[in-house]
Amino acid sequence: MTREEEQKVFLDQLVEHRFFIPMDSPGLFARTSKFENLIKGLEEFIVKATGEEEVTYFPPVMPRKILEKSGFMDSMPHLAGLVSCFCGNERSLLELKEQLAKGEDWSAFLSMTDLSHAPAACYPLYPTCTGTLPPGGRLVHLGTTCFRHEPSPDPTRMQSFRMRELVRIDTPDNVLKWRESWFERAIQFLQDLGLNPERVEASDPFFGRGGRVMANNQREQKLKFELVVKVYEAGPSLAVMSLNYHQDHFGKQFEIKTVDGETAHSGCMGFGLERIVLALIQRHGFSPDSWPKQVRELLSH
Ligand code: AMP
Ligand code: ZN
Repeated sequence: MTREEEQKVFLDQLVEHRFFIPMDSPGLFARTSKFENLIKGLEEFIVKATGEEEVTYFPPVMPRKILEKSGFMDSMPHLAGLVSCFCGNERSLLELKEQLAKGEDWSAFLSMTDLSHAPAACYPLYPTCTGTLPPGGRLVHLGTTCFRHEPSPDPTRMQSFRMRELVRIDTPDNVLKWRESWFERAIQFLQDLGLNPERVEASDPFFGRGGRVMANNQREQKLKFELVVKVYEAGPSLAVMSLNYHQDHFGKQFEIKTVDGETAHSGCMGFGLERIVLALIQRHGFSPDSWPKQVRELLSH
């Protein structure tokens, strides 16, 4: 089977076994409680495995300024989602309705609001850290519903998905040590669930020709690693987690300082919740009640 055929078969099975209900837009699914129970179990297991019990949940939208300030519109504008609303008067509403009735484009009647969707869990965190960090920096556990404009027939590539992240902000040394300390533990975390992950050097999907330079730079400096698992026979493995080092990028943009007055560095570890659960379904089958006892116990909640 080609990768595209495998993707279609997997999606059909997810629908047939009542995990997903498609929503007439690629990469957008309603999830049933059968799927959500696995997500809840995974969330609990993340808390147990990381020891980070307090989770900060950001809403799925955030101030648009964060997208602008963080450089997201320079590096990955094709993935961004902005919130637009109708802010016109009665007359423009009449015109809008005419366009609608004709089935024509009505976007000219919308205005950009001060909100955007969150493209990853950690973006909304940085502006809340502006100023001087406490001694020892910060380690935060986040949960956010993310949006990325990457419509795809692949059920593992969604436009709306959830991410848990641990974010470490401190001196370069401490951030790197923290990331290093997770390389083996993160692999163990996935192995405990019966997955067979591999750690690979990776880069973000930066836009255009300039983006290729950024991606090469990211790889050369080993700023991004992904934990990947085989979900489809054909083509590359699927990234289910990532371990990133941002150097002083966010520290500079959002004026975050260590206690010594230096610009803070940051790093994050992202868990793709839907992707991990999909990898588990692919590995252990479509009946979670028949999964290996150890996995069921780890995911009990
Ligand atoms: P990233 O910030 O791109 O490293 O993403 C962190 C994690 O989120 C990845 O390792 C994936 O598990 C998950 N992820 C990223 N993009 C998507 C997507 N389009 N659909 C589902 N999960 C995703
Ligand atoms: Zn992050």
